[in-house]
Amino acid sequence: MENKKKNSMSLLLDYAANYKWLTFLGMLLSAVAMIMGMLPYICIWLIIRDLLRVAPNWGEAVNITKYGWLAFGSAFGGILVYFTALMCTHLAAFRTASNIRKRAITHLMKTPLGFFDNHASGYLRNRIDGAAGDTETLLAHNLADIVGVGAMFLTTLVLMLAFDWRMGLACLFAGVISIAAMFQMMGGKNAQLMAEYQTAQDIMSKAGTEFVRGIPVVKIFQQTVYSFKAFEKAINDYSEKAEKYQGKICCLPQSVNLTATEGAFIFMIPVALFIAPQALASGSFLQFVTDFAFYAIFSAVISTALARIMFAASGMMMADTAMMRLETVMSAPVIRITDNPQKPEDNSIEFRNVSFTYEGSQYPALDGVSFMVAPGETVALVGPSGGGKTTAASLVPRFWDVSDGEVLIGGKDVKVIDPHVLMDQIAFVFQNNRLFKASILENVRAARPNASMEEVKAALSAAQCDDIIEKLPDGVNTVIGSKGTYLSGGEQQRIALARAILKNAPIVVLDEATAFADPENEVLIQKAFKKLTKGRTVIMIAHRLSTVVSADRIIVLDSGKVIEEGAHEQLLKKNGKYAQMWHDYNKAVSWRIRSAKEVQ
Ligand code: ADP
Ligand code: MG
Repeated sequence: MENKKKNSMSLLLDYAANYKWLTFLGMLLSAVAMIMGMLPYICIWLIIRDLLRVAPNWGEAVNITKYGWLAFGSAFGGILVYFTALMCTHLAAFRTASNIRKRAITHLMKTPLGFFDNHASGYLRNRIDGAAGDTETLLAHNLADIVGVGAMFLTTLVLMLAFDWRMGLACLFAGVISIAAMFQMMGGKNAQLMAEYQTAQDIMSKAGTEFVRGIPVVKIFQQTVYSFKAFEKAINDYSEKAEKYQGKICCLPQSVNLTATEGAFIFMIPVALFIAPQALASGSFLQFVTDFAFYAIFSAVISTALARIMFAASGMMMADTAMMRLETVMSAPVIRITDNPQKPEDNSIEFRNVSFTYEGSQYPALDGVSFMVAPGETVALVGPSGGGKTTAASLVPRFWDVSDGEVLIGGKDVKVIDPHVLMDQIAFVFQNNRLFKASILENVRAARPNASMEEVKAALSAAQCDDIIEKLPDGVNTVIGSKGTYLSGGEQQRIALARAILKNAPIVVLDEATAFADPENEVLIQKAFKKLTKGRTVIMIAHRLSTVVSADRIIVLDSGKVIEEGAHEQLLKKNGKYAQMWHDYNKAVSWRIRSAKEVQ
């Protein structure tokens, strides 16, 4: 635990980089400010002492004005110094937050694109913003407070023991009791209970979010809140843990803690009663009264100091968690960029004994896959769902790096091709096309930012998008997702195809979507496919076998292995898996047609 805390602290200072010294300066100034802030109290005490000494001839107290000015000066100066301290720590905190964001984004730019499929953008944003935000309080306030209050605490301690160690010890006794009580609550085996309590709280808040997400389901199926067993259990768990920890464990120590810190003064009374007679006897009673006044003023400092340190410690814990969560982002794998990039020689694609296993998965998604796509050839990947088609396609543009074997483009391993060159070489359309919340024009132009308006329009036309553009209020300038302009899945697919067409890359990787199979869209999408793939090297994943028939070659993937390969006719003759799929497909199609006729 200690070790981890130190680690995340040094990590944080690492992010502060050049602004580290500002944090340290802020901490130092805060300590100075806190000590200066104590001076007025000392001055007040000095004034009381002088007055007591000269009583009742008040006129003899000559130093009072001096102390008054000193008190005013140090109070004012303390505020100024504290202000400067906060300026420093805030500057450092904001710079650090900005560094965290910059470094995280720079890192994410280097991760393989596939990483974003497995990590939702909300999750990533949450971790990065969370880290930047949660560490800000620590750097801007908590650290300076801890050091400042610590300095104040130490000064008080020295002063207290210096005046009269007996009364000093009595005052400190309160502090000792309070620390012991805190240990009782958070140390030893109760630490475990506290952790369980916090976890239960976490789980409950997550289950709550889950529940809110599930409200549509609850409504549709006419269920009640009690049907959300997980949520109910989380609430019950939490209340049980809360009762156990807060009610049973914390009740007594917390009461003792508050009583001791707030009533530190009480402990001085027996000591005072013990010392008073002696002082009276030795004629130093006046000294005793002034000392007592000193302790009465300063005993309050101890409790405030302890409370503030406790408070600041929670900021430390928060920053610690934030840094750990950020590390999950920063430890994301990066695509290694070669020092000595090579250019592909042609537009062929080759898989050489490629295996790939998703992180955390037990089984390989691809297992020793080899095939070749010659320049200008169209190869279709088919096979049962989960066979590895999408995975194979996503290895070509290096969405992931192979676990074993090689993917080559133009005879060169994709790992030795400059990523920019590789990306220029390939246009891809995947199942989960993402359109930005921007105009159609900008969405399509993302493929080639310097394309002219005519080129964009031509691409949209080629992708059979004319009907979409026509019905939109501002044509190509309509912002998708605004003012009720939403596109259907099939329409989005066509816009994505326009983007790929505009890119005009020699290699095309297509993962056809099944979800948008309304007949009208299907015909248009097929037309757009034809325009996109003409004269190019193509790997396509087709779910409707009718599209596959015209491919130069068909590769059947099952459980990550190539089980058959050849042209449509060849594979039919083989009478294997493909022939069976073709048979099933035709039966389904004729069944659809027949049932449609019967309805008529
Ligand atoms: P297909 O496209 O042929 O339906 P996929 O390539 O999508 O098949 O999936 C192949 C295997 O890899 C499946 O077992 C699937 O569960 C797994 N898989 C696919 N995508 C991921 C992912 N992002 N993370 C982990 N496993 C995945
Ligand atoms: Mg797939």
